[in-house]
Amino acid sequence: MPKKYQAYTLHNLKSMPQIQHLPEAVQFDLQVVGQVYPFRTNNYVVEELIDWDDALNDPIFTLTFPNKEILIPAHYEQMASVIRKNASQEDIEAVANQIRLQLNPHPAGQMEYNIPHLEGNSLKGMQHKYRETVLFFPSQGQTCHAYCSFCFRWPQFVGISDLKLASREVDALIQYVSEHPEVSDILLTGGDPLIMKTKILATYIDALLEANLPHLKTIRIGTKALSYWPYRFTSDADAEDLLTLFAKVATKNKHLAFMAHFNHPRELKTEAVREAIKRIRETGAQIRTQSPLLAHINDQPEIWAEMWKTQTELGCIPYYMFITRDTGAQHYFGVPLIRAWEIFKKAYQNVTGLARTVRGPSMSTTPGKLQILGVGKIKDEKVFVMPFLQARNPEWVMQPFFAKYDEKATWLDELEPFADDSFFFEKEMGSWQEEDDEF
Ligand SMILES: *Cc1c(COP(=O)(O)O)cnc(C)c1O
Ligand code: SF4
Repeated sequence: MPKKYQAYTLHNLKSMPQIQHLPEAVQFDLQVVGQVYPFRTNNYVVEELIDWDDALNDPIFTLTFPNKEILIPAHYEQMASVIRKNASQEDIEAVANQIRLQLNPHPAGQMEYNIPHLEGNSLKGMQHKYRETVLFFPSQGQTCHAYCSFCFRWPQFVGISDLKLASREVDALIQYVSEHPEVSDILLTGGDPLIMKTKILATYIDALLEANLPHLKTIRIGTKALSYWPYRFTSDADAEDLLTLFAKVATKNKHLAFMAHFNHPRELKTEAVREAIKRIRETGAQIRTQSPLLAHINDQPEIWAEMWKTQTELGCIPYYMFITRDTGAQHYFGVPLIRAWEIFKKAYQNVTGLARTVRGPSMSTTPGKLQILGVGKIKDEKVFVMPFLQARNPEWVMQPFFAKYDEKATWLDELEPFADDSFFFEKEMGSWQEEDDEF
């Protein structure tokens, strides 16, 4: 059954029939939190993914409806009091911006490392951190079919980001890649590039295919459209054209790697998503899946095992489990590293080898993607064993090193080196700072 897209934001939330399932207080909280973090959902998420009989404990509800605890109490009170006073939208916005600036929206130094340069000019809307892969942020692909309450890209959606990640410059991308024979992959990311109409997406993909770059092997698309709007691939007006575009990539002997974000097995159950997966696979594209590990949404090994099993059954390849980042609402969604490893291990132990293509739990840090391989013992002392899965310096990859065991740590900056004054990569990087990244 086709579905006509209906977005819900704070402005038209009252018109959403399911809203009456929510207590008044929860609706008020949503108005408060939704002023600070962007809120947007749609009729597929609301009608087909959320169980409204138990909405407040529902993982998909938590995923798209930001709740009170996402703000720290002081910020919540600050915003709630202006709303109670019926302040003007202008005043509300001013308070929202004040709060947002305290939420680590773009950690210091993040842009310095990764922005590529062409003839001395920095290329906004691109990142090149790992040798083989360039990220490209098409300017029309910087929103999403719904917003995830955990998303670290939220500053882009509320317009306070000065990252200016978005780019229209496909020509600059092509020139850059043509001068970098080490690049085999281009990853179109956002936001969600599949928010773009097929016609617009095609201008980017056709340009890449026509550029005749023999070393470019793979076009990746990072997207959550399968989970938030599968009709994009089945019954939307330009769904057929989109599938034709995917198929064209294969006819040009390039691989289309569809990097799908799924946070919960529920997202794999509807008829619409199953039909969409089938159609995408028929084009020759390969679907790989990834998700962060999120408290209140998927922090149980059974959930991950089920998710990886179902994905494998549907012909998708489990790819990454990420550790949630230290921005925005990490206090709410964050999971200690030790717990992340335990969840990963238990889930991994319970799936077929075909699903053990997944890697993680992985932390996207400034030096690279760090895997928590596990806890070991050196003499009598427990240590974290961590290799890089990806690194700024390719020589660092798959070389395990140790950090002191720490039950509470949720991110690299809380870890201390074992039997050394610094981690080996710190010597090379100088004083590194956290930065924005692709998960
Ligand atoms: C994760 C990531 C990639 C892709 O890494 P793969 O391991 O090849 O999937 C590329 N660039 C950045 C900046 C990333 O964070
Ligand atoms: S960028 Fe990805 S994680 Fe962020 S809101 Fe959009 S779909 Fe969700």
